Amino acid sequence: MSRWRENVREVTPYVPGEQPDEPDMIKLNTNENPYPPAPGVQEVLRSFDADSLRLYPDPAAGELLDALAERYHVKPSQVFVGVGSDDVLAMAFLTFFNSEKPVLFPDITYSFYDVWAELFRIPYHQIPLDEQFRIVPEDYFADNGGIVFPNPNAPTGIDLPLTEVERIVRANPDSVVIVDEAYVDFGAESALPLVRKYENVLVVQTFSKSRSMAGMRIGFCIGSEALISCLNNAKYSFNSYTMNRLTLKLGAASVKDEAYFRTVTEKIAETREWSKRELSRLGFVFGDSRANFIFAAHRTVPAKKIFQALREHHIYVRYFDKPRIDNYLRITIGTREQMQKLFDFLKDYLAGA
Ligand SMILES: *Cc1c(COP(=O)(O)O)cnc(C)c1O
Repeated sequence: MSRWRENVREVTPYVPGEQPDEPDMIKLNTNENPYPPAPGVQEVLRSFDADSLRLYPDPAAGELLDALAERYHVKPSQVFVGVGSDDVLAMAFLTFFNSEKPVLFPDITYSFYDVWAELFRIPYHQIPLDEQFRIVPEDYFADNGGIVFPNPNAPTGIDLPLTEVERIVRANPDSVVIVDEAYVDFGAESALPLVRKYENVLVVQTFSKSRSMAGMRIGFCIGSEALISCLNNAKYSFNSYTMNRLTLKLGAASVKDEAYFRTVTEKIAETREWSKRELSRLGFVFGDSRANFIFAAHRTVPAKKIFQALREHHIYVRYFDKPRIDNYLRITIGTREQMQKLFDFLKDYLAGA
């Protein structure tokens, strides 16, 4: 009997939301942006010289770092980029979470955190959110080997005010605190101001949601030069060329169009607030989301039933069959027209349910 299986790193993988491809579908299941990327991104695509692909890209991703540093008023040496924020977060777990003490994150949160912890053999402790699905800062004052949480949290959409985030950072000078701000651009407060005051806070963001570029895979983080330098050492020990030539140019073009970014994120926030009123009228209850999705339960009809009925009509939302949240639907904010179609269907369906 061959025994190679004894040496396999076994892990239960993360399960991404499904990616159906039907012409008539309304896709509100993976928090993508319903609007196209900035016009400058199209222009770069049209004028891109394929011949340049013969050459390796800039391993330091200078063009993109410079654009991000300028936009967020930090030094390029305080920025790190990766293949989506999943890549940035995975590299941050590998780099900063090497203690024997447990890393802390909420029980209801981005379901990749426990997968990376398992993959990298990092001990962890999941801290329950309170009854209203809020993070309680005091719960993170315990001895730990690191802290990570999204703000706003996923899949709840509920945000933690900056003063509360700061209390967590201040109470943990001996740990790296990672704030995953995948959804911050839709109306929550960023922890970026803390980067100036604390060496141990790392703010992670992505181009996948607010910048309409999920298909391109760009994520980044901003922190002290000390943290970023540690991340670079790990990255260059793993894969020097994570960002390809086209990605670097498209990413920079997106960051430079601040006006378009503001228009799109404001439009989505506006549609979200309108959607809250419509969902309330349909009998849903939900926390006050500041993300590009709403996490909602219906007063009488089980979420799983609604999820399946929607699916049969090619309207896709996300359902998690997990403790505490198995009666909720996570509904991404689409265009106003898409949301109207969702509400029209729900109105008929719930009347007959
Ligand atoms: C979407 C998401 C990410 C990952 O996004 P990328 O597409 O890999 O940039 C990270 N964290 C949270 C909480 C997310 O919802």
